[in-house]
Amino acid sequence: MSELFREATPEERREYYTKEWSAKKLPDFIVETLEEREFGFDHTGEGPNDRKNAFSDIRDLEDYVKATSPYAIFSSVALYEDPREMEGWIGAELVFDIDAKDLPLRRCLHIHPSGQVCPLCLEDAKELARDTLVILKEDFGFEEVHVVYSGRGYHIRILDDWALDLDHKAREKILTYVSAAEEITFEDLQSRRIMLSSGYFRVFRLRFGYFIRRINENHLRNIGLRKNQIESLLEKREELYEGFVKNAFLTAFPQGIGQKGILKLFALSSTFSKAYFDGKVTIDVKRILRVPSSLHSKVGFVTTYIGQEEDKLEKFDPFKDAVPEFRRGEVREAYRQWTEEHGESI
Ligand SMILES: [Zn+2]
Repeated sequence: MSELFREATPEERREYYTKEWSAKKLPDFIVETLEEREFGFDHTGEGPNDRKNAFSDIRDLEDYVKATSPYAIFSSVALYEDPREMEGWIGAELVFDIDAKDLPLRRCLHIHPSGQVCPLCLEDAKELARDTLVILKEDFGFEEVHVVYSGRGYHIRILDDWALDLDHKAREKILTYVSAAEEITFEDLQSRRIMLSSGYFRVFRLRFGYFIRRINENHLRNIGLRKNQIESLLEKREELYEGFVKNAFLTAFPQGIGQKGILKLFALSSTFSKAYFDGKVTIDVKRILRVPSSLHSKVGFVTTYIGQEEDKLEKFDPFKDAVPEFRRGEVREAYRQWTEEHGESI
């Protein structure tokens, strides 16, 4: 049986790096800052032990990669005056990491345990990445926002000058905003502040939209909703999505839920949305991240640069656009088998 995700062998790594990969595949935002980045290599699959590498010429990086066919390649999100010593910190990209294997709320909860991924949670991660991209551009005005398929999810990497300068406290604040982690109160509901369409309520509604389409009976029972409330909520979830999320009509909530019930739903949505991102990646200004175009050997996919626009992300399909040559036939077959088995879930 073909496997959708599997570890690449050392021979396959060699084939990928010698035949398919070249430094030309690196995105411009890496090439333009090459000299200021620290590079880390994992040669064995045990983690990036070969650290503190720096390259002043792209050809040297290419030679090193082609000679060693590493298990994984990373580079710093920070730019340094002296990357070899990780000294003279100039700034660091602002990064959001959405990992499908860690999503607490996903449509495939009944298909596989957490820690694994499938086409459905990768699709869910893509929706979260798209919403995040919109928030970062519209609410913060970031202009240099790059989206990368990491192999098991999505990285959003921001290189605007003012983003590079942010300290970890400021990054934490942006993370709180983007996660819609602020509490919605009774007063917010009463004053109808919730109906404002800009600012915080955009992020809140986007996260609530993701939430309302994926929650199940158990989630709702756990927050103390009654059987009839649960039934009408699940029945009307698409209506609620259209009415509340798209148009901010609080009246979209079914009769009988009440303000208390609505607040409980909002609170549960926030609990989930806080866990959509790996917050450590956003706050840490000395992190290393997978280099776009490198092979994610553990899952057998290519870490792929997607671009800066929403529609590029929308069109991106990891099962077509992030498959190394040596797995083309295998992934096509495995994907076909997966949809045959779980097609009704899509
Ligand atoms: Zn899944």
